[in-house]
Amino acid sequence: MAKKQYKAETKRLLDLVIHSIYTHKEIFLRELISNASDALDKAYFMSLSDDSIQLDRMNLTIKIEVDEKERTLTITDNGIGMTKEEVEDNLGVIAKSGSYNFKQNIADKQEEVDIIGQFGVGFYSAFMVADKVEVYTQSIKGGASVHFESTGEDGYRVDELDEKLPIGSKIVLHIKKDEEEEKYGEYLESYTLKRLVKKYSDYIRYPIQMEEEVKEYDDKGEVTSSTMELKTLNSMVPIWKRSKSDLKDEDYNEFYQGKFNDYQNPQKVIHTNLEGSISFDALLFIPSRVPYNFYSAEYQAGLQLYSRGVFILDNAKELIPEAFRFVKGLVDSPDLSLNISREMLQHDRQLKAIASRLEKKIKSELLGMLKTDRENYEKFYKNFGLQLKYGTYANFGAQRELLEDLLLFTSSRDKKLVSLEEYVARMPEDQKEIYYVSGESVEKCDRLPQSEWVKEKGYEILYLVDDVDEFVFSILSQYKEKPFKAINQGDLNLSSDEEKEALKHKSEEKKDLLGLLKEALKDQVVDVRLSTRLKTHPVCLVADEGISLEMEKVLAQMPNADQNVKAKRILELNSDHPLMDALSKVDADKVKDYASLLYDQALLIEGFSLEDPIGFSNKLAQLMIDASK
Ligand code: ADP
Ligand code: MG
Repeated sequence: MAKKQYKAETKRLLDLVIHSIYTHKEIFLRELISNASDALDKAYFMSLSDDSIQLDRMNLTIKIEVDEKERTLTITDNGIGMTKEEVEDNLGVIAKSGSYNFKQNIADKQEEVDIIGQFGVGFYSAFMVADKVEVYTQSIKGGASVHFESTGEDGYRVDELDEKLPIGSKIVLHIKKDEEEEKYGEYLESYTLKRLVKKYSDYIRYPIQMEEEVKEYDDKGEVTSSTMELKTLNSMVPIWKRSKSDLKDEDYNEFYQGKFNDYQNPQKVIHTNLEGSISFDALLFIPSRVPYNFYSAEYQAGLQLYSRGVFILDNAKELIPEAFRFVKGLVDSPDLSLNISREMLQHDRQLKAIASRLEKKIKSELLGMLKTDRENYEKFYKNFGLQLKYGTYANFGAQRELLEDLLLFTSSRDKKLVSLEEYVARMPEDQKEIYYVSGESVEKCDRLPQSEWVKEKGYEILYLVDDVDEFVFSILSQYKEKPFKAINQGDLNLSSDEEKEALKHKSEEKKDLLGLLKEALKDQVVDVRLSTRLKTHPVCLVADEGISLEMEKVLAQMPNADQNVKAKRILELNSDHPLMDALSKVDADKVKDYASLLYDQALLIEGFSLEDPIGFSNKLAQLMIDASK
């Protein structure tokens, strides 16, 4: 029997596969099992439409056998089989190669990987681990049994056999000799094979079976008998394919814990199916705790990807927006190519469509939880709220629409978390802006002198206690057309015209004093003025428009911080406070010390450290001495 040469492009692909730098050689098993599963599907389908074919679906199986001595791994199915012609067509050429334009010059190894991904190496992937591949097959349609044999590059031979084989196909891989970098022998170990089936083909809907030695022992631990038993390696029915009404919480929990190595139940399960222009099943989980490595580079975000129950890829980040990277789970879509490579994920249109559906789904589930299961949502938010905030702030707010409704902040009203939507909904009619202030803690924010007037007006203030909060607000800048306004920055615009007039008048009265104070603090502040926000407290510090006091603190803590990035500070005095009269009576030469004391107090209130704490102490002591005279 003459040896046939592969067509040029097949040859080229084979060459790539055989000398592949493709690191995932183990996927050959997935490919062969998936082919076997397809063959079983086809046989079953034929039996449905052709009365002359009698098939019991229960008997359809895939068998894996190993002969360690011969170094062969055999995968047998009793599916549709192939005629001689079909073998030639299917295995002799790349079936779909006509439409592919082979790149003539492969510039780098990366491209090589891409090509393997694009071409659906399928059957040929066997050559990654075998130096010879044989196929024995009998078509369900009748005709002679066929034998195919190839050592790869130098072509293949196909011949008809005299004997009649059972219907189906048997693929025999002659596993390569072990090499320095690659121990091919592991593909002859039942442990490895079991692991690979579990990993890649657990949800194949036919049993994948392998003979296993079962030993029995006596009391002394001596083997008394050893028998071979046929074991099914896969669990067959993917949980995500089962109807939601058949599934209990325990089913989901068990699956989640086993699959995603968590010892706790997920906080939320999202099981969703979509049929239409794009079809998929997705099973998503929100963990009930923050993974210990969540904020490290080690954490692997992304979903598992399946196509028709066959595992394709782990950690497909493209399926989940960064802000939802805490979501674990998987997607199974018949619309995806089995041979999609990680490099192709970013460009895959189907995948993008799935990702956008998932994004909407996760958001609507979270919003639902926020509205109907507040306690649970707040628990979730405690775990992953920070991630939502980072997501809002990232890429100049590109994801704001997705995320802004999911954010919560503590309100001055009851010190409870409130969403922006809730805040806006309960704003009094005359309130134009969303007030906020940043600080170390809710307690500290709540005691800030600058909040007095705003609270008096009956307006709520949001307390921002995470470093990222200010950045989130400055990126958002408004919510539902209500601008954000820091209560300790710029002009609050709360005063009526009369109040403004009165303040102007008072400022005129105190012009000399304010001038002296300003002169004394000229290196520290850009202005000293009478306040429109203080009611009972004597003094406070505010920032002019631009960088806020809190932002200055956060920026200063960053590595390589530019120490010149500072808020423009303004010292504000309460014109109604008795202190004003006291100050008016102070000798001009003492005003300098008083100014410094006032400024230092304001700094302390804001949580800044004093530039000269010893000077502060001495001045305060002097003041006490003066007061006792
Ligand atoms: P794909 O599965 O994407 O079509 P493969 O390279 O994996 O590509 O397989 C090529 C073709 O060979 C299949 O489409 C099928 O027609 C045939 N084939 C492969 N394995 C089997 C098998 N076990 N039984 C019957 N036909 C098979
Ligand atoms: Mg295939």
